[in-house]
Amino acid sequence: MKKNSIILIITALCFGVSTHNLHSQNLPVAWEELTSGDFAKAVTVSQGVCIIPMGVIEKHGQHLPLGTDLYTARDLSLRAAQKEYAIVFPPYFTGQIFEAKQQPGTVAYSTELIYKLLDETCREISRNGIKKIILVNSHGGNNNFLLYFCQTQLESERDYVVYLYRPEVDSQTQKSIAALRKSTTGGHADEVESSIMMYIRPDLVKIERAGDESGADLDRFKIANAYSSIWWYGKYPNHYAGDARGANPKLGEIAQNQKIDQLTQVIREVKADKSAPGLQNQFYKEALLPGR
Ligand SMILES: [Zn+2]
Repeated sequence: MKKNSIILIITALCFGVSTHNLHSQNLPVAWEELTSGDFAKAVTVSQGVCIIPMGVIEKHGQHLPLGTDLYTARDLSLRAAQKEYAIVFPPYFTGQIFEAKQQPGTVAYSTELIYKLLDETCREISRNGIKKIILVNSHGGNNNFLLYFCQTQLESERDYVVYLYRPEVDSQTQKSIAALRKSTTGGHADEVESSIMMYIRPDLVKIERAGDESGADLDRFKIANAYSSIWWYGKYPNHYAGDARGANPKLGEIAQNQKIDQLTQVIREVKADKSAPGLQNQFYKEALLPGR
């Protein structure tokens, strides 16, 4: 151990600073920024927790880049992992996005591939010694797929647990957003999402184009109490839901920072979690009994 390290640890002990934080300060959180040797240290410091930041490549109105969800998921994951150390997987852009295939620039991989790639990604993460994986998703069209993916983790035995982060806007943040917000409806490339992009990547936002197309709900799929794949196209054929013209970076900062705090807490709880791994192993044993 180097003299500097000893001094740091003594200082930490004297002043009650966590040595865990001292160790993690020197390690990047982004998987691709770590050296191979530092990766092994990162697995230990992260307590075997990795985040996959997920988005897709799809139209976001006329004013936001195709990779908007990648930027927002990545910013959220990196900043939360810097607060509570976890390894962040490289940008992950393979997801469910058939509903935007009619729009230029969309990359919509097949059903088989998106399942298989996520499954193999989790297995590769596990093979590298990480046994807890948190999916952080910024793309609404992935929600059902990711819930299904989590359900299928019980199909056969594995030595890792997949957790899906499910953000919830708290009442204080809801009030702050409502006070700044000019539009009343939204859902995709809307005022809030555009504000987040103005906060994290203002250089990529062309807000003057936000009114070039309508983001109004056309409400063309009319059957109550039934679901069909065409529901989204029935409502928003421009792949734009809401009115982003009032977007501003302050609103984005409030919305994004609340998510970062929430995800930081999720990382802490996942690190400490013994229930899901224990229950999952118990379940596999019972499910694998002869005759089942
Ligand atoms: Zn989006």
